[in-house]
Amino acid sequence: MSTARPVTPVRAGTVTRWAAETDVLVVGHGCAGAAAAFEAASAGAGVLVLERAGGPGGSSALSGGELYLGGGTEVQRACGFEDSPEEMYSYLRAALGPHADDEKLRLYCEESVAHFQWFVDRGLAFEPTLWDAPTWMPTTRDGLMWLGENAWPYNEIARPAPRGHRTATEAFGGWLVMEKLVAAAGEAGAVTHSDTLATALIVDDTGRVVGATARRHGEDLAYRARGGVVLTTGGFADNEEMLADHAPHLLAHGRVSDGLDDGSGIRMAAALGAATRRMGVVELALTALPALAVRGMLVNAHGQRFVNEDVYPGLFSVAAVLTQPAPYWVIVDEEGYEAVPERERWGVVPRFVSETLGELEGELGMPPGALDSSVGTYNTHAARGRDPYFHKDARWLRPLEGPFAAIDPRAGFHQGGRPSAGAGTGVAGFTLGGLRTTVDGAVLDVSGAVLPGLFAAGRAASGIHGEGYVSGTSLGDGTFFGRRAGVAAAAGLRSAS
Ligand SMILES: Cc1cc2nc3c(=O)[nH]c(=O)nc-3n(C[C@H](O)[C@H](O)[C@H](O)COP(=O)(O)OP(=O)(O)OC[C@H]3O[C@@H](n4cnc5c(N)ncnc54)[C@H](O)[C@@H]3O)c2cc1C
Repeated sequence: MSTARPVTPVRAGTVTRWAAETDVLVVGHGCAGAAAAFEAASAGAGVLVLERAGGPGGSSALSGGELYLGGGTEVQRACGFEDSPEEMYSYLRAALGPHADDEKLRLYCEESVAHFQWFVDRGLAFEPTLWDAPTWMPTTRDGLMWLGENAWPYNEIARPAPRGHRTATEAFGGWLVMEKLVAAAGEAGAVTHSDTLATALIVDDTGRVVGATARRHGEDLAYRARGGVVLTTGGFADNEEMLADHAPHLLAHGRVSDGLDDGSGIRMAAALGAATRRMGVVELALTALPALAVRGMLVNAHGQRFVNEDVYPGLFSVAAVLTQPAPYWVIVDEEGYEAVPERERWGVVPRFVSETLGELEGELGMPPGALDSSVGTYNTHAARGRDPYFHKDARWLRPLEGPFAAIDPRAGFHQGGRPSAGAGTGVAGFTLGGLRTTVDGAVLDVSGAVLPGLFAAGRAASGIHGEGYVSGTSLGDGTFFGRRAGVAAAAGLRSAS
């Protein structure tokens, strides 16, 4: 039996007192909510944002702050890269696919340079410098990073150009992105009610969404929205029941979230007949350090390589978790390990070290000869600068020589002495599926009709993703379609009145 909080829609006629009335009610103050609030307020609408936590931020504020943007931004040009919306689209269609949302993706790529400028105009600075190696997260202030565009097979699908844009701060920058976006929304006139949990949508007699009920400091309240309600409540990685129903392979693993991604917005809209999309698709991150994996090899429980280690690490993670027997190991030699400066090792240390591969594969419980065979084959080709199986770039190819180390992703990363996501199974993720929306954020019902007065964006909605994920596309499409939802909800005010 379900233990979930009820989300049954409330009839407007039963509301005896409105706690507040506004033009556009935004539910959830992460990146999508801040973008929607900013645009709706800038369009002249009164905007109220309900946020269940003690303040804005959500998972967005905890994030790396990587923004997937391209098509020829000023940072790309300053770093010497040519790019176009078409090349960006070709890469993302392959990397986010199969089944990336073509209409949303085309628009996202076509308007990416303008979206980059929108961040700049909100006060985000980007250094014109490139971090030029595979990583989850640069430790520097570099404004640009590769997110797999230069790795096979993507380097043959689209002209490689780095598109991971990072605001000028070391390592995790989500807090800075949110600081600027929340300030911009406030300056545009949006008001936030924190500690306010939206519980259900309110509909009038025509079926139009006209507000939301909420719980604040133990009190049940009703908020009226004349133009529309924008749901930007995030995904459902923290809702075990929804994961069991839609994305069970994440159940066993860690969660990449602020702990409040309980899918409440998706459920509130579904209770009105809203359709959902891509609910089984998740981002997966294996806590294997790309800097080490690329200098050695990533193998499965049988000691077999299965991917080029220079690909975007989220894609080697998906390849591992969804297709290969666990556990996974990074095998690296002393030269490869020492080539990564200690401050970029994120606390990663070898689990086993051995002079010989025979000894190492025994420690790892692999079939006799497994590692000997994998490393032997790798070395034969690497000596000629080739990787005929997976096409890792020649820059990273070198025969591996003992002593060898085996690194266990299940140990996680330990930044600043603290264990971070990944300790446990070595895998953590978040959900990518959500409400089915138009490119303007209007939520569609199961018959394909617009639910009047209801909008959604960010991980509460299904965005540009098919079955893959590339870092930066969540903050990227959350803000991009959040902005459009804010504009449309403000325009809805005119059509509703
Ligand atoms: C450690 C980490 C690193 C990441 N790195 C990146 C990265 O570099 N680039 C990238 O693109 N993505 C990254 N992600 C993913 C990305 O942060 C999220 O997918 C994205 O922030 C989702 O944005 P959102 O606006 O949809 O949701 P959120 O930012 O989670 O905001 C949702 C808000 O809604 C509130 N809320 C929820 N339900 C209710 C309710 N019923 N009533 C009122 N309020 C409610 C929540 O409290 C929250 O504040 C990372 C995530 C984490 C955790």
